[in-house]
Amino acid sequence: MTKDLAAFAAENGIKYFMISFTDLFGGQRAKLVPAQAISDMQEDGAGFAGFATYMDMTPAHPDMLALPDPDSVIQLPWKPEVAWVAANPVMEDKDVAQAPRNVLRRLIDEAAQEGMHVKTGIEAEFFLLTPDGRELSDEFDTAAKPCYDQQAVMRRYDVVREICDYMLELGWGPYQNDHEDANGQFEMNWEFDDALRTADKHSFFKFMTKSVAEKHGFRATFMPKPVEGLTGNGCHAHISVWDAPGDKSRANVFATDTGNGPAGELGLSEKGTYFLGGIMKHASALAAITNPTVNSYKRINAPRTISGATWAPNTVTWTGNNRTHMVRVPGPGRFELRLPDGAVNPYLLQAVIIAAGLSGVRSKADPGKRHDIDMYADGHKVRGAPKLPLNMLDALRTYDKDKELKTMMGEEFSKAYIKMKHEEWNSFITHFSQWERDHTLDI
Ligand SMILES: [Mg+2]
Repeated sequence: MTKDLAAFAAENGIKYFMISFTDLFGGQRAKLVPAQAISDMQEDGAGFAGFATYMDMTPAHPDMLALPDPDSVIQLPWKPEVAWVAANPVMEDKDVAQAPRNVLRRLIDEAAQEGMHVKTGIEAEFFLLTPDGRELSDEFDTAAKPCYDQQAVMRRYDVVREICDYMLELGWGPYQNDHEDANGQFEMNWEFDDALRTADKHSFFKFMTKSVAEKHGFRATFMPKPVEGLTGNGCHAHISVWDAPGDKSRANVFATDTGNGPAGELGLSEKGTYFLGGIMKHASALAAITNPTVNSYKRINAPRTISGATWAPNTVTWTGNNRTHMVRVPGPGRFELRLPDGAVNPYLLQAVIIAAGLSGVRSKADPGKRHDIDMYADGHKVRGAPKLPLNMLDALRTYDKDKELKTMMGEEFSKAYIKMKHEEWNSFITHFSQWERDHTLDI
């Protein structure tokens, strides 16, 4: 049943709603609407000038109206008089096809028509820095192998506990928090859910983590490689497909014990194997979405970090329970995509997983041979596996050539995304850097 947001405000003492949408680059944009005005906004949407955000629009475009999805509403646990609600952009009574949340909703519907309901869990790693973003927030966090450092995680207990308490309050089922593999880096895990719900939670988690960090005098960043030489921020996705959404799910379509075809390798069903095949087939192209910034390519393809491993892939390979590959199948009925990074747009991450997976199921894509080796030590021995793109331009060109993936993601979206990201690349490449001065001044 659709919630009435005005009634929700009255019941919960909410004074303001943040009507929020996510642009092509993953930026979250919101209008703060008093509860007295929310009924009209629920009907008509909040007006935005798309051109003023990272959407492919001109100043002459009509208003883009962000229609709140009442099922996504969350009362801010740290400021209970405000509620955040994700919105679906509409223009002249039509869904804005390039808007990331609309791309995802369309793909969820397509998959549902084929009896597939994707559920995912994500691991959004982040760093806690000083407010100017230049230093780690904790000067004592200097260990060469800082992963799971109990002393260091306890020095940031107040931040981690506050975020985890809020996730408990919100019913997300958080179950573990740790200090990650880089100095200053943390990870917090909560239960997997339907793709749209995970995307909304992912967006809200970023907003919440940044807000709580600011409250404590720190700055949280999800940037893929914020500190040279240290492990970067990944956003690994654990993927499974079910027979129905939400609480109605009974059977895991990827598992082999549910009558979904003969058992494949490592307990993936036939459909699960084809879905994985789609991810493998489109991996180099989908990197343009899962690794969307210039900085993303300093995480994948990185030289060995101080801790000993980057924990990021550089080649399109898959395996069993082994973290050195792009895809890990840790147990029956699911797999982990280790390619995405902290800059990924929460909605486009889920959308591109469904798009690639669905195309794999439709074309019965073969994921290829599994490689049970340590890729960091023996990766050079693998023959025939494509290398991931070396930079954002490579990735964009590969995406542009992948007609099947572009069509699945939507022509209008793909055109807008490629255009805007090329503009970003041009801005980067025309920037005069200190590196050029250092290396070529005396040539
Ligand atoms: Mg991790």
